[in-house]
Amino acid sequence: MDYTFDTICAIATPLSKGGIGIIRVSGENAIEMVQKIFTKTIAPKMINHGWIVDNGKKIDEVIVLPFVAPNSYTGENVAEIQTHGSPVVINQILEILLNSGARLAQRGEFTKRAFLNHKMDLSQAEAVLDLINAKTQATAHGAAGSLCGLLKTKIEEIKSKISALLGKIIASLDFPQDVAEVDYEEIIKETLSAADEIKDILKNAKMHNILRQGIKIAVAGRPNAGKSSLFNALLNVERAIVTEIEGTTRDTITETLDINGISATLIDTAGIREKSPDKVEKIGIEQSKAAIEEADIVLCLYDGQAGICEADRKIFDLAKDKKKIIVRTKCDLSGNISKDGEISTSSKTKEGIEKLKNAIYEEIIGVNPAQSEFLTNKRHQYCLKKALEALENALNGAKTGELQDLISIDLKAAVTILGEISGEVITDDILNDIFMNFCIGK
Ligand code: GDP
Repeated sequence: MDYTFDTICAIATPLSKGGIGIIRVSGENAIEMVQKIFTKTIAPKMINHGWIVDNGKKIDEVIVLPFVAPNSYTGENVAEIQTHGSPVVINQILEILLNSGARLAQRGEFTKRAFLNHKMDLSQAEAVLDLINAKTQATAHGAAGSLCGLLKTKIEEIKSKISALLGKIIASLDFPQDVAEVDYEEIIKETLSAADEIKDILKNAKMHNILRQGIKIAVAGRPNAGKSSLFNALLNVERAIVTEIEGTTRDTITETLDINGISATLIDTAGIREKSPDKVEKIGIEQSKAAIEEADIVLCLYDGQAGICEADRKIFDLAKDKKKIIVRTKCDLSGNISKDGEISTSSKTKEGIEKLKNAIYEEIIGVNPAQSEFLTNKRHQYCLKKALEALENALNGAKTGELQDLISIDLKAAVTILGEISGEVITDDILNDIFMNFCIGK
């Protein structure tokens, strides 16, 4: 692949009022370009304090941090300008840079360049995005693990194990007089061991996907079942409107909550009631049905004081194809009579709230999930599954005494597909897909 690296610039911090704003410039001419609009001589490896000027007019007092290639994030010359956090000033400086010949960076272009300039492999570049998007500490921890190369190292280990075996097979095929044929037992042992390591990573795939994407929880139940109150109790804030008039939560409301490290979007649905007389409420009911539809798990609430009735069961039926937890609310009024498969809660006393959070976690993840030091994404998982298939083919071949020539084809395929994870073998389309999800300035 051929790439040209012109000088790019972008605002790297959110464009809103704040202490500082950062503009990043990267490319061969980055430092020179900033020098032309900066009042002091930029000294390398120094914090440079001065003014940005435009045709002699002072724009802002800033700090310029130069990073000389290859010792920068992108591996190119980079200049970071720290301005005062005024959106007007930040935009003005960006415009001056654009008028000086820099180009506005595309999404993720800084990180893409870091990858193309071998500052990081593709799994690390993807981890940057995961880290930016992490909503819980557990997700950030996994993303940081991938960023510092834990996934990369693991894949390298598996790849070199297969490559070593492949090397031996090829040597014996190329020089049959000098190199003895590899023992089939050895092929089976080594292939099995590589396959087991891949299976180990894939075992955590579901957990990784949930950590990266989070889950959606719908809170469903008849009007007055206690949905809004439970919603607030789970969030520990006053958010949804709580009243004694049925059907007050007319709209669906969403909030994010941390359940033992999983980011959960909680959707408070409007009270579901068949044949609602009110048009607005009808829309709410439709939305509730839609919320249940898109949820990963549904909390089905019934008023513990009133007891469960046919109308409650009808609503719970809407979630019949979903993971669900039956929640008996208002247990401070009715007493904590725990029935099998139900959780009693009180939004008033907070009784049962922690138990409910744990139940959600267990329902989604299971008990004792394996701890994982890094995160994989769907792309990695696809490659791992394909590599596993190739190894299983090789294994079957070895078990049936197939020609080692043929076994080597499968082993080679496994190595190649594992190389896609790090980006050794990659197409422009895959690259564009990955970096399209980044923000501008990263
Ligand atoms: P929704 O219509 O399902 O959203 O129900 P709300 O959350 O608005 O609650 C309906 C009524 O029940 C309100 O008066 C709440 O104060 C009351 N309520 C909800 N949860 C509890 C609870 O755990 N204990 C008590 N004592 N009252 C509750």
